[in-house]
Amino acid sequence: MRFSLLVVFLIIPFSLSWGQDPCLGGAPFRILHFTKTSEGSFDHNTRNNSRAMFEAIGAANNFTVTDTDQSDIFDQVSNLLPYTVIVFSNTTGSDLLNTTQRAALEAYIAQGGSFIGIHAATDAYRNPSTWPFYNNLVGGIVQSGPSHTSDANYRGTMTHDVPGHPLLEGIEDPWNKEDEYYYWSEDRGGQISPGITSLLTVAKTGDMVFDSARAITWFRQLTGGGRSFYTALGHNNGDYTDASNSFRTLLRNAVCWTSTNSLLLPIQLLSFTARSVEQGNQVDLWISNEGVEELHLEKSRDGAEFQNIRAFRLHEGENKLTYLDQEAVASGDYYYRFSWQEVDGAVAFSPVQVVRIKGSPSLGALTPNPVTHHLRFVPNTAHVGKRYMIRDILGRRIHSGWLDTELVLSTDSWTQGTYLIQVEGQTGQSMMFLVQH
Ligand SMILES: [Zn+2]
Repeated sequence: MRFSLLVVFLIIPFSLSWGQDPCLGGAPFRILHFTKTSEGSFDHNTRNNSRAMFEAIGAANNFTVTDTDQSDIFDQVSNLLPYTVIVFSNTTGSDLLNTTQRAALEAYIAQGGSFIGIHAATDAYRNPSTWPFYNNLVGGIVQSGPSHTSDANYRGTMTHDVPGHPLLEGIEDPWNKEDEYYYWSEDRGGQISPGITSLLTVAKTGDMVFDSARAITWFRQLTGGGRSFYTALGHNNGDYTDASNSFRTLLRNAVCWTSTNSLLLPIQLLSFTARSVEQGNQVDLWISNEGVEELHLEKSRDGAEFQNIRAFRLHEGENKLTYLDQEAVASGDYYYRFSWQEVDGAVAFSPVQVVRIKGSPSLGALTPNPVTHHLRFVPNTAHVGKRYMIRDILGRRIHSGWLDTELVLSTDSWTQGTYLIQVEGQTGQSMMFLVQH
C-alpha cells in the first residue's frame, strides 16, 4: 500500500567552487572598516593608513571600503547587512559599542556576516564578562602586565600552521617580521578562545613563560555561516603603508577568504532531488566536484535534527549519486541534505530537500516560493493561534511568533538560503522555502 505523495523539487545552481578566487570570481562587495578607540585607551593612530591600505587592496580585488571611527553605524543591523565583512582595525577599550549596537553586531554575525580583527582588536573588551560574544568572535584577549614584547619592533619568526591554506597564500614560511608580539597567558587575564585554528605561530620571543611559542594569527568558522580572521600583527604604521610587505598580502587574503560564506558550496550542485517511489524515497544528487573526497547523506524528520545515513566516496569531475531510503514509508515529511568537509576542516551543507508523504494535514499555504521580498503564509485553521518558528538550514531559530489567519514577513534582511517554518505541536511537519535576493 502506498500513500499519495507531494514531492518538492529544487534545482539550485551554485557558481562558487573551491580554487576559484572569491575576490575576483564574484560580484563586487563592500566592507566596513571600524577604527574607534575608547576614551583613555591606547590609540595606535593607524586608522588613516589602514583605511588607505584596504582601499588599495579593494581597488584590485573587487570591493569598496566604508570607513568610520564612530559607532552609530551599528545602531541597526540593517545598516550592517550590506557589508560582507566588518574589520576592527586597532580598536581598543570597552567603550566601543552600546548595548543596542552590540546586539546589532551579534545579529549581523548570526545572519552570516564575517569579521576581521587586527592587532589591538584583542585589546577591546578585555574583561571576559563584559561581552564574551566579542571575545569569541575575535578569538582572544591580550594579557595585561605586560601585554606584549617590550620592543615594539621585536623581530619574530613565524611559521605556517596550516600549510597551503588560502589565507597563507603568498606569505613566506618562515616569516621574519618586526612587530609588537602579543601575549595570551590566562593567569594574566589573557585568553585564546576555543574553536580557533592557528595559522601562524611565532617562535619564542624571550625568556618569560608567556614568551613561549604561541599563536599570532588565526581564523574560525562562525555558526551563522560567516568567517572570522584575526592577526595580532599590525602595531606599526609601516605595516599599512608598505605595499610590498606580506602583512598586506595577509589582509588581502583575509578579506577574500572571509567574504566567502562557508555555507556556499565548494562543489557545483547540478541537481538535487528527492521523491517517493514504490520502495521508499529516492534521493538523487548530481554534482561537479573539485577536491571533495567524501559526501554524507543526512536525513531528518523535523527539518532541524539531521542524522547521517550514508557516506559516498567522490571522484574528481562529475558524480551522480543515488540512494533509496527504504525506511521512508510512514506518513509525514522527510528531509534530506548532504554534508562534506571543506579543506580547512569546516563542515558545509547542501540545501535541504523534503519529501512529504501524505496522511497528515499540511500546515497551510506559503507563497511565493522562492520568497523574494515578502513571505506570505496562510495557516490551516487548526493552526491559527499556535506558536510558529522559522529555522534556517542548520536548524537555528531565526524568527518566531504566534499565528493569526495570515502571516506576512519581510525577508529583505535575511541571507539567501533555505528556511523552514514549523508550527508548535506539529513535530515532524515543516514547510520549506527558499529566500532569494
Ligand atoms: Zn600595539
